[in-house]
Amino acid sequence: MKTFEGLSVQTKRSKRKTVSLQVLKEQNDHIVLFVKMPEYIDHEQLQTILEAKRSWILKAKETVLVRETTKAQWLSDYSIKQNGKLPFKGETVTLNFLLKVSNPNISVKGNDDEITVITHPYFRTYHSDLSLMLKDYYYKMAYKEFSGIIRNYSKKYGFKVNQLRIKDTKTRWGSCSAKMNVNLNWKLIIAPHRVYEYVIVHELCHLGCWNHSQQFWNRVAAILPDYKDRKDELKLDQPGRKCLPIPDQVPSFCLSSCIILKQD
Ligand SMILES: [Zn+2]
Repeated sequence: MKTFEGLSVQTKRSKRKTVSLQVLKEQNDHIVLFVKMPEYIDHEQLQTILEAKRSWILKAKETVLVRETTKAQWLSDYSIKQNGKLPFKGETVTLNFLLKVSNPNISVKGNDDEITVITHPYFRTYHSDLSLMLKDYYYKMAYKEFSGIIRNYSKKYGFKVNQLRIKDTKTRWGSCSAKMNVNLNWKLIIAPHRVYEYVIVHELCHLGCWNHSQQFWNRVAAILPDYKDRKDELKLDQPGRKCLPIPDQVPSFCLSSCIILKQD
């Protein structure tokens, strides 16, 4: 079978006992239906299985299409250039470039309204340098912002955090460990304050309560009564996933892709 509902079908047979279906976008931008199945499944059986799962496949295809369109739109809104726009703390900040003879190479500074890249007039700036510098800037801003929030909540509620680490994780917004370390994804600094504040409170409440029991959610609710709304904004804790997954449907947090793709 080559296609099903306009999707090219890719199959992988193995010693597995069940059939698994996935609709996903490949690197060449084609959306495919990927089927993992036992070795004994023949063409007709596969056709029957896909027919039975037709509505699920159509829904999954629609989800991927919407996600990719939204992502493309989002990426086109931001760029690294003079007066370009970048996402920061739920808002858009303006990117400026400043030439300064006293600056030996590149430095980045900014506030909640703008980010300024300062370079020496003769220093050749490459897009990759800028990307790294900006990413570094976002890391620093994330650390500054999140450590301030952790300090405030620790003071008020007695949380004991050993260390905050800002990470470049692909699948999680945040996590914590028995050593009382809190790890947070740097891309959270792109989200609105109320959203990353929720992620931080969520992780703080895990210190000493390492599950998602009712007791845990009561702890979160005691601090953030509207936590459910904030949680919805991040589309967290989907069934079967671990704590605080990064949902694919929130492309607005894909800053790294933005930096890589836009080269104006
Ligand atoms: Zn959790």
